[in-house]
Amino acid sequence: MMDYNALDKIVSDYIKNNSFYVQSIPEIEKMASEILAKETPNISETRWSKKIKLNDSINIVYDFLTKINHDLALEFYNIMHSVDSNNNPIVTFIPREELKTKKNSGEISTNDSHVNIIDGKVYIAYDESPNDLFEILHEMMHKMNDQATIKSGKHFQTYARDYFSETVSFTSEMLLGDYLVSNGIITENDFNLRKEERLNSCKEWARNFIINAELIKMKERGQDISYEVLSNFLSNYDKTSPIYNVLIDEAHDYRRINQIIETKDMDLGLSQKYVLGYYFSDKISKSKNATQELLYLHNAIANPNTKINEVVDIIMANLNINSDYDIETQMDTIQKGQVEEMHGQHNESPEPDKKLDEIEADLAGIKKEIDNYEEQINQTNQRRYR
Ligand SMILES: [Zn+2]
Repeated sequence: MMDYNALDKIVSDYIKNNSFYVQSIPEIEKMASEILAKETPNISETRWSKKIKLNDSINIVYDFLTKINHDLALEFYNIMHSVDSNNNPIVTFIPREELKTKKNSGEISTNDSHVNIIDGKVYIAYDESPNDLFEILHEMMHKMNDQATIKSGKHFQTYARDYFSETVSFTSEMLLGDYLVSNGIITENDFNLRKEERLNSCKEWARNFIINAELIKMKERGQDISYEVLSNFLSNYDKTSPIYNVLIDEAHDYRRINQIIETKDMDLGLSQKYVLGYYFSDKISKSKNATQELLYLHNAIANPNTKINEVVDIIMANLNINSDYDIETQMDTIQKGQVEEMHGQHNESPEPDKKLDEIEADLAGIKKEIDNYEEQINQTNQRRYR
C-alpha cells in the first residue's frame, strides 16, 4: 500500500527547495518527449566485434584527445598517472560487475549509484570490450571538468559545470565514436551498441523526469496527491501525447513513484541533467564544428564565473541558432586567453539551418527559465554548506 501522505510531503518539500529545476520543467519536458520518440540505431550483431585490452583502450582514448586538443591530452595523461596523498592512484579501473558489487555493499561508498567520481577519485568500470573506450573518456571528461575548477588549490563549485557535465561527457563520447569508426578501430555496429545503450538509459531518465514533473504539476495545480488524484489523472490524460505511454508504463508497477517514497527524494534535477545532456550532445555532435564546440563547452563550464545562461548562449551560437551572437566578444569575457587559438575558426558564419528554428524556440525558453538559477542555487547552497 503506497504511502500517499509521505509522497505528497516529499513533492511539496522538493518544490520549495528546488525552484530552478521546477521552473525548467516545460522546456526540459519537450526535450524528454523528443528523446522518448527517438528510434534506436540499427543493430546487426549484439556482440562486440573484438576484445580490446584495457591498456590499449587507454592509449586509444589518449590518441583521440591529442587530435582534439594538446592540453586536454596532457591533462588526461597526468591524471592517469597521479596519486593522492596516500600514494594511491587517482584513477582506479574495476571490472564492471565488481564495481557494481562494491557500490552495493558500500565498500565504495556513494549516495548516488550513477556517480563514479567519489572524493576526487575516478572509478572506471571495464570489461575489455570497445565499451571501455567510451567509459574511460566519459569519466575522465568529468574528472577534467572537475579538475579545471581547482584554481590555486581552492576548489570552486561551479553551477554551470554541475548542470552541463553530462552534456560534455556525452558529446565527447559521440565524437570519439566517429573517430573510432572512421579509423577502423571499432565497427559502426560497435558504436551503435553504445549509442543504443545511451539512448535507452536516457529514455529511462526522460521517464523519471516526466513522472517527477507530473507529480510536481499536480501539487502546483493545488491538488493533494492521493490514490484518487493519481488514477483520475491517468484516465483523463491526453492519449495521443508521447507522455501517455510513460504514465501507462508507470501505472503497471509504480516503480518510479515507489523509488521516490523509498529514497524520500525526487530525482527531477538529476534526470534533467541527463535529458539535457543527451539532447544537446545529439545536436552538437552532428554540427559542423563539433570539436570546437566541445572545447568551448569544456572550458566555459570550468570557469567559476560562468553563468548557465551564458553556456546556453554558447551552445546556441555554435549550433548557429542565434545569428546575432558575437562569439568573439562572448568568449573573451568567459575564458580570456585559453581559447585564443580557436577564435579564427569561428569567424565565418555557416549557412543558417532552417531546421534549427525549432531548437531556437526551445532554447530561448530555457535561457529565460534559468536566468535566475545562480541566485536560487546560491541560496540553497548557503543553507546546505553553512
Ligand atoms: Zn556521467
